[in-house]
Amino acid sequence: MAKRKTIKICGQIFKIVYKTKLKNAKGESLLGECDVNKLIIYLIKGMPPEKETQILIHEAVHAIDKMLDLGLNEHKVVLLSLHIISLIRDNKLKL
Ligand SMILES: [Zn+2]
Repeated sequence: MAKRKTIKICGQIFKIVYKTKLKNAKGESLLGECDVNKLIIYLIKGMPPEKETQILIHEAVHAIDKMLDLGLNEHKVVLLSLHIISLIRDNKLKL
């Protein structure tokens, strides 16, 4: 399946850029990162499709949080993104 190249979040088109390495400011490895100023979501190349979707939704929640200034911390972003995925899967929602 072709890799997704963009995702629309809060009406903004984010480019999806695949990288071999991602690190945060502390030098810790990341699976994804979002830059709401550049409208880019970075994802680590080569993740299994299900994991990639999970990370993409996690980064999309970060983007929503930043764009709407919700003030969510990492823990809340983790919980919210996992429950959004469960909500869609458990109810077989077609959007
Ligand atoms: Zn995060």
